Amino acid sequence: MSTSLPVNEALIRDVVSEVLSRLGKGAPPAAAPAVNPACGCPTGAKPAGAARRGTFGVFQNADEACAAAHAAYLQLSEKGVAGRVKVVQIVKDLCFAHAKEWGRIELEETKIGRLDHKIEKLLGQRGIPGVEFLNPYGLSGDHGITLEEYAPFGVIGAVTPSTHSIPTMACNIISMVAAGNAIVFNAHPGAYKCAVMAARVFNEAIHRELGIENLACIVDPPTLDSFNAIAKNEHVRLLCVTGGPGVVKAAMASGKRAICAGPGNPPVLVDGTSCLANAARCVVLGAAYDNNLLCIGEKQVFVLEPYFDKFTAELEKAGGYRLTDAQVERLTKAAFVIPPGTGAGCGHPVVNRDLVGRDPEVLARAAGANIPAGTQLLFAETAPDHLFVDEEQMMPFLPIVRVKTVEEGIAHAKRSERGYKHSAMIHSHDVANMTAMARALETTLFVKNGACVAGLGNGGEGYANFSIATTTGEGICNPRTFTRVRRCVMVDKLRIF
Ligand code: NAD
Repeated sequence: MSTSLPVNEALIRDVVSEVLSRLGKGAPPAAAPAVNPACGCPTGAKPAGAARRGTFGVFQNADEACAAAHAAYLQLSEKGVAGRVKVVQIVKDLCFAHAKEWGRIELEETKIGRLDHKIEKLLGQRGIPGVEFLNPYGLSGDHGITLEEYAPFGVIGAVTPSTHSIPTMACNIISMVAAGNAIVFNAHPGAYKCAVMAARVFNEAIHRELGIENLACIVDPPTLDSFNAIAKNEHVRLLCVTGGPGVVKAAMASGKRAICAGPGNPPVLVDGTSCLANAARCVVLGAAYDNNLLCIGEKQVFVLEPYFDKFTAELEKAGGYRLTDAQVERLTKAAFVIPPGTGAGCGHPVVNRDLVGRDPEVLARAAGANIPAGTQLLFAETAPDHLFVDEEQMMPFLPIVRVKTVEEGIAHAKRSERGYKHSAMIHSHDVANMTAMARALETTLFVKNGACVAGLGNGGEGYANFSIATTTGEGICNPRTFTRVRRCVMVDKLRIF
């Protein structure tokens, strides 16, 4: 007589997964389990709330996250550079494998931006630099040899924006772990669920491959209190914040060293000496990218008067839709809120978050316009001091301003950039104009005859990162950004000649 035992599927899955994780050193990291978007758990894992064997980087308490990250940092140190290389590859492979799914999940949570570009930003993680950026600087002379090494800080506290939550977290992990650090993230409250989900998947894969569980920790849910706790925690040696003026100010006031990737409002100058069709195509590509959420994205364009009509006609050919003055007025009323009681022109306008990063159709409705399917971007002629010129609005609407001279265009561009020293673009074949604009604006990124994304290696030369340390001057972040330089000196007759 045979008896059938009750089968506990969850238990079997756990046992199988445990056995596989012990055996699975050779398993490719990209083959990590799919995630359940509802709870962020890998498919087949126990749902949130049930007992877990580990936290895999997700902590409710910021201090516990910092302590766990510190333990992980010590474990990583034991694994040498080879361990860092593995982590970098795991993160890149997971972003590649999950790009479509994670792009959709991030868009569903934040409701800002475009799916095609969210996916592209995850696929693009493959190009983020790793340990190869850490070549030491060596000297050898009559008095011996000296080596300057790029050493880790330990634990880094990182803040990520709503505009690219998982991509910023992923490239932060790649750069920071390549440099030998562990991280604790405080994500944006409107974009943290997707970040928590991705952090869990990263940590599980890292744990499977290297046995380190909490290398990239995240606080769930993030709050201002959890930011303050991270900033104060003794294990946290460095902050890296990516966001607007508020978080930059908070990081600078923390007393910790802070790398600040701050706000921008990038202007474009078109002087008519280069191809206007190319200039228009580049401007539409950059400003429409993820519905103009990029901090480097073209936000206002200054065009020399004789070329204005031809340039705006080219914008239409490139997927732009021209709004009338009345439509711009309606859109402006919907897009900006003047705080009550301050009187027209007195109060500082606040961007209406409901229109940030929304599709051109949404903006067109607010403007009272009917636009053809496939429209990439709205545009219109405005005055140089229009709100859309002066504020970092992050919407797929571009104000185009007529200027009489290059000098006037540069002066308006400089004023509109607001001293952020972030990014600027010029379309020109006149080297003197290029140099004059570069000198006047002093931006971190200056792109000539390309879309803004060319500044991050997409159509131009160079590597990418979603943290561009403008405010504090480190530039486009890479692994070296997250290191301390330590000098090792040997005094002896060590030369072999
Ligand atoms: P945001 O400033 O609203 O938020 C950014 C992050 O900072 C979030 O995690 C938020 O929770 C946190 N934060 C905000 N105020 C804080 C405070 N006082 N204390 C502690 N944390 C605080 O910005 P956002 O809307 O998420 O992103 C858009 C902004 O970020 C734009 O200004 C854009 O230019 C900038 N940005 C810059 C870069 C860069 O590399 N320089 C990259 C992406 C975005």
